[in-house]
Parts: sequence; structure tokens; C-alpha cells
Amino acid sequence: MIELPEAAVLAKQVNETVIGKRIRDVVAAKSPHKFAWYYGDPKTYRGMLAGKVMSTASAYGGLLEIAAPNFVLLFGDGVSLRFFEKGEKLPDKHQLWIEFEDSSSLVGAVQMYGGLWVFPAGGFDNKYYLIAKEKFSPLAEAFNGNYFNGLFDEKTEKLSLKAFLATEQRIPGLGNGVLQDILFNSKMHPKKKAGTLSEKDKEELFDSLKATLSRMVAYGGRDTESDLYGRQGGYKTILSRNTLDKPCPVCGTIIKKEVYMGGSIYFCSTCQKT
Ligand SMILES: [Zn+2]
Repeated sequence: MIELPEAAVLAKQVNETVIGKRIRDVVAAKSPHKFAWYYGDPKTYRGMLAGKVMSTASAYGGLLEIAAPNFVLLFGDGVSLRFFEKGEKLPDKHQLWIEFEDSSSLVGAVQMYGGLWVFPAGGFDNKYYLIAKEKFSPLAEAFNGNYFNGLFDEKTEKLSLKAFLATEQRIPGLGNGVLQDILFNSKMHPKKKAGTLSEKDKEELFDSLKATLSRMVAYGGRDTESDLYGRQGGYKTILSRNTLDKPCPVCGTIIKKEVYMGGSIYFCSTCQKT
């Protein structure tokens, strides 16, 4: 599942590779998928996009937005988006295939679930999208210590740090994947209650959040995800399915996994305190 770092990397790669290309053809919803979401009837996508030149790509949280004149393409966090040069073999199954005039392609395929939305600019009132666009990105300067401290209030006191960081779109794009290393680097357990954090703890969590996400972006996304060219990200996750049952890099304790709040958490029971 792509989250903030991978969406940022995809936006950069789309800007390097696809921008300026003119769309020749569009095939939407070729492979049936129960949990692929479209804007209106996907049969209208071709009419909206054919002949258009791709302009800027931007990441908002875990979403990737690509602008074409008067229209917007938006990919949700469960979509795998790949670029293929002319002559490269395309995947058999996909939910959106955009072919450019130079015969290269952009192909979107839904994994478990995901949105591939094409809509007239300004015409999509999806709440998740609007909130992701409106809030500060944790990578932005405006997301500073004061802003972060302002996210804590009476209602968040009883929340675990996992719930605090990764629900309610408090921080768009920060999901169950990236939060594991953010918490490891701040030496806090995912079940630690937000209300127990001292001012110094909040500072440490804020620093870890900024530094960990920046590193993930700098290294091209996490090694549990793929980029626009199908390459694994260069950021080596400390806590993920890749490191389960391996020793903690700091103290050597075996890394554990637990199911918690509808997803897996990974942690070092020695380094991370509740
Ligand atoms: Zn440890």
C-alpha cells in the first residue's frame, strides 16, 4: 500500500517521465475488480483524456494527482501505477491503461482496493481527497512543532499512538506502514497512549516523524513497495514484514508482530516503551 513517501516518489517520477506526453488512447476497467473505484462511468475516461497532454503531477498524502488540461487523474493508495516504454510487455490485468503517442504507457492496477478517478478539474468532492489537499504535508515547513502539538487535544488523550498518527486523516498519507519506523525511531510503542506524552516526548516524536519520512522519500520509498518502474524502494524498513523475527538493529531483541486495530504492528519490546 503506498503511503506518503511512495506517493511523493511517484509524483517526482511521473514529472520526470510522463509529463509532456500526449495521450493517444485510454482503456478503463478492462479487468473486472470488485474494489476498483471510478469517477462515474469509466467508459467516459477515453473521451475526457484522449488528445490531452499530461501536465503536473502532485502528491497529497497517499494520493497521486496528475493534471491534464481541464481534467484530473487521481490514484488512490491501493493502486499500483507503472510506466512502460514502447515495446515493453504490459501486465495482462489492469483497470486503467493510458497509451501515449510515442507508444509508451502508464498502467494502473488495483491490488486489494483502490480508486482510479478521472474527472473534470474541481469536480470531485471526495472528502478524503479534499482533506488530503487541504492539510499541511509533514514534509512541508509549515508542518512545524507548533502545528504538531496542536494535533493533541482532550479527544486524543486516550488514543494509542497508532490511532493518533494513522487515523482520522490527522496526518494525510501517514498510515500503518510508515508509522512503524517513526515509532521505532522515537522509542515509543504503537500502543502507548497519546495522553502520556511529555512535551519532550512530543518533540522526539515530531523529530522522528519528520526525519523518518524525509529519509523514506530520499531513498525512493520503502523496500516493501515498488516505484513507477517496478523497482523496489531503496529505504530499508526497520520494522515491516521483511524484518519480522529478525534481531532489532539497536539491541538485538527479536522483532515481534501483533494484530492491532485491523492491521499488523511490528515492534521491539525492549526499545519501544508503552
Ligand atoms: Zn531493540
